[in-house]
Amino acid sequence: MAFGYHGCYLRIDVSIATSERVPLSDAVLRQFLGGSGVGVKLLLDENRATADPLAPEAPLVFAFSPLVGSPLTTSAKFAVVSKSPLTQRINDSLASSGFAIAGKRCGCDAIVIVGRVPDLSVVVIDDGEVRLESATEFRGATCRDTEAGLRARLGKDYRIASIGPAGEHLVRYATISHDGRHAGRGGSGAVLGSKNVKAIAVRGSRITPWASPKELTALSKSLSKRSFGPATAKYRELGTATNLLTFNRFGALPTRNFQSGTFDEAASLSPEQLSSTRAKTRASCMACTIGCEHIYSLGQNGGVRVEYESLFALGSLCGVSDSDAVLRASQRCDELGLDTISAGGTIAFAMECVERGWLSEPWLKFGSGDALLRAIDLIGAREGLGNLLAEGSRRVAHVIGHNSITFAPQVKGLEIPGYEPRALQTMALGFAVGARGADHNRSGAYEVDFSDKVDRRHVTLDAVRHAIQTEDKAALMDSMIICKFLRGVLEDFHAECADMLRIVTGWDVSADELRQTAKRIVSAKRQFNLLAGWTPAEDTLPERFLTTPLPNDPAASLSRDRLDGLVAEYHRQRGW
Ligand code: SF4
Repeated sequence: MAFGYHGCYLRIDVSIATSERVPLSDAVLRQFLGGSGVGVKLLLDENRATADPLAPEAPLVFAFSPLVGSPLTTSAKFAVVSKSPLTQRINDSLASSGFAIAGKRCGCDAIVIVGRVPDLSVVVIDDGEVRLESATEFRGATCRDTEAGLRARLGKDYRIASIGPAGEHLVRYATISHDGRHAGRGGSGAVLGSKNVKAIAVRGSRITPWASPKELTALSKSLSKRSFGPATAKYRELGTATNLLTFNRFGALPTRNFQSGTFDEAASLSPEQLSSTRAKTRASCMACTIGCEHIYSLGQNGGVRVEYESLFALGSLCGVSDSDAVLRASQRCDELGLDTISAGGTIAFAMECVERGWLSEPWLKFGSGDALLRAIDLIGAREGLGNLLAEGSRRVAHVIGHNSITFAPQVKGLEIPGYEPRALQTMALGFAVGARGADHNRSGAYEVDFSDKVDRRHVTLDAVRHAIQTEDKAALMDSMIICKFLRGVLEDFHAECADMLRIVTGWDVSADELRQTAKRIVSAKRQFNLLAGWTPAEDTLPERFLTTPLPNDPAASLSRDRLDGLVAEYHRQRGW
């Protein structure tokens, strides 16, 4: 067995309260590494690609990685992998911190959960021993309260991943939360909720040895030192929102349900403005030396971790410039366990339908912070209009009709993140072909748009290979697992990743092997999607992006022919 691994996963059937340890061979671990890679491999092995993701038999995988528990900066992460109830396709989302370390210390490289327990329960894994306990006292509790309550009941050395009310109500974009961070996209919280599992509590003592402990210490020190350098300065200083005003200048800040790429009041949501008017603290995930998290004060309502994606989705996308309302909306999403991007995207879409007279909810207006907050609470409880919006914009469009699907802001059902595809056309390709739908974490193609490799408003087929490279790199980082914000620190990305793995596992892994590993993981996701019913017509963007230029920047137009050509070239280069 390689160092850094336990060589098995824990498979728990909550219907019958049983668990078993299933061996994981060295060959499989070397082929898929951990995180998203091992998660999708286990999902394929479970052979449930055609199952309803909210059915008891649908598996939900928590996958750790060889680096978890090591002193390598940003490595305390885990992946949650399942079929998405929002897209009906593969979903892998990542989160950070102590749950990853404590979960791996239970003596396993992954946890697979199937079944459905009759009453709301918590799965307790104590050093590998599994039991179910009642969680009915936490029904309706926020993620944070659930975590605090369970640690008070079970002991402070437990780490908890939990769902909020949105997960209990099977909102299709509910998250799984740990320590204020979320495995956010695609509705893994609804999958856990469908199993009647409110939380998973883990603690353990089983530590894996490292292949070359001295080299590991030296590399960890060097990486930590480098992580303080200029490549990460912007994240430390202003957090992920650092580029909000730049995006606005480039006409790439999605506004009023993608009807514009510029938001006149963007300054009021910028981190520069927020920092000058509010108290702010910085924080970081466990075992991270970068610390990109910026927590802004909401006065007597506490604080909220502010990310670019939340500011865009709940701010400019809904036309809301009142920073109090946007920050409070982000906080409510955290409490309820809602993905802010899908919540904002679905609400913004509904606002446009109201504007067009296709939805009789006159209170739901662009620009209204009160409407935004009301809609979020209704979604979390699946009450009134919230019961419809809890289904995500694609399903809402099918109910509303009027061909509104042409401007529902989604790909494969997953709401589009804060990168205007007409202004960032390599990213447009990344969104169109993404295995889990429109996503900026599985494809970093926006980096290509902001480089001198392409003309971002008129990309050619030459952009395709660059887009593929960013997708492959993301697959590697999500499987090793390291934080994406570390990539700028690595001078020779694949060689340094290979070094990390060699030192941790003892494998004589090379940069070229990792390039192939990344492609294998991307292909495995596609294989799952093919089994789940994927068709070529899914690799596209909503019609709005292919027929309507950006009003403030008519040169930013993307035709169907151009996107189809890019997608066809992508498939050709992938060998699909
Ligand atoms: S850089 Fe930010 S997201 Fe990444 S591990 Fe550190 S604190 Fe977490």
